[in-house]
Amino acid sequence: MAEHLEPILPGSYLGILGGGQLGRMFTQAAQAMGYKVCVLDPGADSPAGSIAEKFIQADYTDSAALKEMASLCASVSTEFENVPAQALDELESLGVFVAPRSSCVSLAQNRVAEKKFLATWKAETNIGPAPYSVIEHDADIAHIPADLFPGILKTARMGYDGKGQITVYAAADLPAAWAELGKVPCVLEKRMDLDFEVSALVVRGYDDAVVAYPVSQNIHRDGILHTSTVPAPSLKPAQEKKIIDAAKALIRKIDYVGVLCVEFFVLKNGDIVANEIAPRPHNSGHYTMDACVSSQFEQQVRSMARLPLGDTRQLAPVSMLNLLGDLWFEGSEDQAKEPAWNKVLAHPDVKLHLYGKSAPRMGRKMGHINCLGEVLNEARQHCAAVATELGIEP
Ligand code: ADP
Ligand code: MG
Repeated sequence: MAEHLEPILPGSYLGILGGGQLGRMFTQAAQAMGYKVCVLDPGADSPAGSIAEKFIQADYTDSAALKEMASLCASVSTEFENVPAQALDELESLGVFVAPRSSCVSLAQNRVAEKKFLATWKAETNIGPAPYSVIEHDADIAHIPADLFPGILKTARMGYDGKGQITVYAAADLPAAWAELGKVPCVLEKRMDLDFEVSALVVRGYDDAVVAYPVSQNIHRDGILHTSTVPAPSLKPAQEKKIIDAAKALIRKIDYVGVLCVEFFVLKNGDIVANEIAPRPHNSGHYTMDACVSSQFEQQVRSMARLPLGDTRQLAPVSMLNLLGDLWFEGSEDQAKEPAWNKVLAHPDVKLHLYGKSAPRMGRKMGHINCLGEVLNEARQHCAAVATELGIEP
């Protein structure tokens, strides 16, 4: 049996790789519990770096920077999905408790490994990935099964918010699509007939306890998350149970410590397909900040500090609305405006979260609003009203 390590108590430093909004909300949760935070990010001016007790501006693979982080922090987690595994391994070799470990993070960084992982455990989780093929060499194209079309060609690495994806209607279009993506390793996935999309958020502690949040139903716009609503209005209780059981099984399979998000598709025929995993708190879990006993960021703190996990119980129905940089502009990027926050905040049961990003850009995630209600319909009405006031299309 592995040696049992003591918890890391408040007053200590916790480290986070990445200084974006997820790192900022992690920092705020850690600080609320009395921890100090060390952020490492390559950018000079990052949402998390600007509020952390210690900010190291360096590349993720900068050995001196990682040593400095390791000298301060007994535990490090990541908010940036594409942090090089090498950085996590280096920290671990310096004696830092890294949660989740690099092997878990690597899995989520590569769609080929991720799909294989989801397919491998299908018999145990009862939910597998959409049918897919891997394309790494020109010769692979000739072996793609015809029933994968229409399909979605996705780069194996660095895809997010729908970037690095092309819909391919027929086999004849595949070579051009692959060339357009630069002939990098890709997966071609059958395009499924989606009814709606959901995500499961599960957390595993150092003590092997696994907890799950209520599943959220997600609407995307232009590939970017738009709203998350919980409880998921279209999901049947039996489907929710199946999804949570699958996510809990997956987190145990990889001996993962931390917060894990698993995205699922619910198909028109009622079948469920696993789409992808994120090795960190997730945008679709921001609702937990105001609607649950413990937020996903508090759980990140607890798990990396080897503390018992918090309660995931939902206290109120909620609809989360993402705020993109588009709201700061009148049509185009040369006409700036300030969104009408006073009107938003005139709703007493909506909670505004802004990430402190210096420059808004179209499509950039700037914040979110959690709209609460006594019943789900009320939460959704608040969300629609706030969206209208901000000029977001319903
Ligand atoms: P990203 O890493 O950009 O989030 P995803 O694989 O989650 O990439 O794809 C983004 C969105 O594209 C999904 O949320 C879904 O709406 C749509 N999509 C992706 N794969 C499929 C598929 N196989 N069938 C139908 N829609 C899909
Ligand atoms: Mg996705």
